[in-house]
Amino acid sequence: MLFFVALAAVEIIFHAKTFAIARPAQNLDPPFYVGCQNPVLNGADRANATFVMLARNRDIGGALSSIRSVQDQFNHNFHYPWVFLNDEPWTENFVTQVSDLIAEYDANAIPVFEVIPENMWGYPDWIDRDKARSSMDNMKAQDVPYAGKESYHHMCRFNSGFFFDHHALLPYKWYWRVEPSISFTCAITYDPFVEMERHDKRYGYTVALWEVGKSVPSLFRKIADWKASRSISTTTLWTAMMQPSYLPWPLRSLAAWLPYHDSSGDSWNLCHFWSNFEIADMDLFRSSEYRDLFHYLDQDGGFYYERWGDAPVHSLAAALLLRPDQVHHFAEFGYTHSPFQYCPWTPTPDELQHGGLVPSKADRKGGHKNAKYLGCNCKCDSKAEVIRPTCFNRLRQTVM
Ligand code: GDP
Ligand code: MN
Repeated sequence: MLFFVALAAVEIIFHAKTFAIARPAQNLDPPFYVGCQNPVLNGADRANATFVMLARNRDIGGALSSIRSVQDQFNHNFHYPWVFLNDEPWTENFVTQVSDLIAEYDANAIPVFEVIPENMWGYPDWIDRDKARSSMDNMKAQDVPYAGKESYHHMCRFNSGFFFDHHALLPYKWYWRVEPSISFTCAITYDPFVEMERHDKRYGYTVALWEVGKSVPSLFRKIADWKASRSISTTTLWTAMMQPSYLPWPLRSLAAWLPYHDSSGDSWNLCHFWSNFEIADMDLFRSSEYRDLFHYLDQDGGFYYERWGDAPVHSLAAALLLRPDQVHHFAEFGYTHSPFQYCPWTPTPDELQHGGLVPSKADRKGGHKNAKYLGCNCKCDSKAEVIRPTCFNRLRQTVM
């Protein structure tokens, strides 16, 4: 008996060890620049890039404040264009106010206001609407954020599978997603698009955090099954998003039926990149692999029967389709999207050893005696909660 217990324990330890991440010999994802630059203008070397904001007419106040923040902190030096997308026709008020604000910074700018075509927003015909409605009501009763709102599901599906095909974005390769009511809390004095291109990065984020598990019970299983069916090899970033099962071998696979477990019974740790800020290469999403993945997920119906967000879809796709060093953390961009903020932080050598990039809990409010800002002229938000370090530390192990 004791022998079998010992054997099981050894097997569990070996199994868990297969989830350890071999850390690279050097930092594969350092910041492009540290501190303030004398804006690094690259002359003719500009990227084929645009800002994109999805908004409703009633988001006008938040839209204006986000645009002001982006223009003040970055774009008054760089003059990238703006594209605004809406599922409904824009009001004259929205168009006028936004155009006037952008013109204050750049008299020559021509912001684009576009409507999303019906085939990109709304139920596809294979969705059972009664089943969708009752799932939404159930999720709402369980307090899954926004799950009761049909339009939120359409939005997540659009941002997962369609924005990059919108005709207003087709001319561009790179986008920087901006939402209403966000702010950048440091100056950005270099061109992140150009640096992404130069360093062979494809997807950039500022915040990594946990997903609300109840919004995605079957998403990870679906994506893991797709990965297996397409024989996609496992990257360290995929592994970093997982948590090994500590059940003994024969029991382990029974756990496969639990939420966000794969067919072997190991699970997603729910860590993902927050997609309300993204700078990424749309060719990632326009690739046949991503289209195949999105189509597979879309057929399943989980955008409606559950409340799959575009953030976990983008993140798990990046973990599958990119090398971990093609994913960039904008460690020097201060960023607030209520209720959280990311505030640039220089870890101590010891914290760095452990992948630390954000203050440990004790230091989050008061500052750290060895702290030094990575960013430029940061004025971090005094109100928003500083994001916890766990997911950053886990995901960053793949590159540093
Ligand atoms: P949260 O970030 O998950 O709390 O959700 P938000 O309310 O910020 O929505 C995410 C993004 O989608 C924002 O850019 C919103 O403006 C946009 N959005 C959400 N719902 C709709 C909608 O029904 N229509 C349009 N046009 N935009 C939407
Ligand atoms: Mn938002």
